[in-house]
Amino acid sequence: MRRVGGRSDGAFGRTRGRALARTAFRALRAWYRPRLPLAPHRCPRCRFPAPGCLCAAVPRVRSRVEVVFLRHVSERGRLTNTGHWASLALEGSSVLEHGVVGEPLDVSRLDAAGAWLLFPSPHPPPRDAPPPLRLIVPDGTWAQARRIVQRVPEIRTLPRLAVEVAVPDALRLRRPLVLGGMSTLEAVAAALRALGEVEAADALDALHRDGVALATRLGGGPGRGSPPGSRTGAPPARRSARG
Ligand SMILES: [Zn+2]
Repeated sequence: MRRVGGRSDGAFGRTRGRALARTAFRALRAWYRPRLPLAPHRCPRCRFPAPGCLCAAVPRVRSRVEVVFLRHVSERGRLTNTGHWASLALEGSSVLEHGVVGEPLDVSRLDAAGAWLLFPSPHPPPRDAPPPLRLIVPDGTWAQARRIVQRVPEIRTLPRLAVEVAVPDALRLRRPLVLGGMSTLEAVAAALRALGEVEAADALDALHRDGVALATRLGGGPGRGSPPGSRTGAPPARRSARG
């Protein structure tokens, strides 16, 4: 039997076949999982089990800054996605899904004048950048958020707003693995606070506390927050569970 790279044709073929099968399985899962319906006992709005869901704790929050969540498709339907909680609360906010197979992202609203990206940057924003009127928020794990920024050219060149974690040792549903890690909802609250929207920031922080407490009572194990740190410096090097 002919040998290829020290293996027989048969072994090579099997290895290649398994790799192809894995790739096909991942593609199928990426397409199928977000389409799974919520379990019937879960609230279609907040995704928490009903009755007793999170909706009663979701405030109406007004802000001069429009928030656009650019959410990784794998976050669809996840109870622990705090960006979803923020989108329910913030009037005028919207959600775009990134990574939906067969559905190109509508980028028309991402790079308008006054759009800023909520993401760490090693550089300060340009002095002549217009004040933030619209905040683009990549939403997912850190690895997903990084990939979103890399793969969407319309947001890569936007001026960036980086924020510091307000409560380093806060309870979180997902344990941040990087210095200064925080959930998407906390990051949005910190950004609005930095932009002078103190009332909106306070309301979102309260929603975060309520949501984490409710999820914890339901059995989702919270993680203690990261040690004090800054998201204004270099982007985190390791994957964290931002959500
Ligand atoms: Zn609900």
